[in-house]
Amino acid sequence: MSKLYFYYATMNAGKTTNLIQSKYNYEEQGMSPVVFTAAIDTRFGMNKITSRVGLSIDAISFDEDTNFLDALASMQLDCLFVDEAQFLNKRQVQELLKITYSRDVPVLCYGLRSDFKGELFEGSKYLLAWADKLQELKSICFCGKKATMNARLDKKGNKMKEGDQIAIEGATKYNVFCAKHFFVKG
Ligand SMILES: [Zn+2]
Repeated sequence: MSKLYFYYATMNAGKTTNLIQSKYNYEEQGMSPVVFTAAIDTRFGMNKITSRVGLSIDAISFDEDTNFLDALASMQLDCLFVDEAQFLNKRQVQELLKITYSRDVPVLCYGLRSDFKGELFEGSKYLLAWADKLQELKSICFCGKKATMNARLDKKGNKMKEGDQIAIEGATKYNVFCAKHFFVKG
């Protein structure tokens, strides 16, 4: 029986690099993986995901209206990857879970656990609740401890407490911290 996987991390923990490497491994075995990414993330152009080390692959964009069962109905599918999976909604996580048993293919989701306020994203909440396998990808706080939190920084480098959950465009800066240094002032 195939499983739903959630690879969660902070920003800049190598999620996309990990996804691209894993997709390549499936292709090397002669399989046909399908990759989705959030339409919301247009840093590198639509229908493409690019890792920080410069690797780039094509992907199908999803938004809040995407029905994964319908979108994949007529596709050859041996394995499904979803990048930016924190942007999934509850219904879509249910659809991905259904794909693991109705199509009997593994579904590998990659995403952030929490937002810059320390709150769960909707997609991450249900993936953490329902995934068969959880795997944390590690990144490091300046203090040397594992980083678990994403801070959004203002122009002076201070952690921001207010704002929309999603702000990818433009000059928004983020840094990752352990929980202690996320909640400590400064
Ligand atoms: Zn720290």
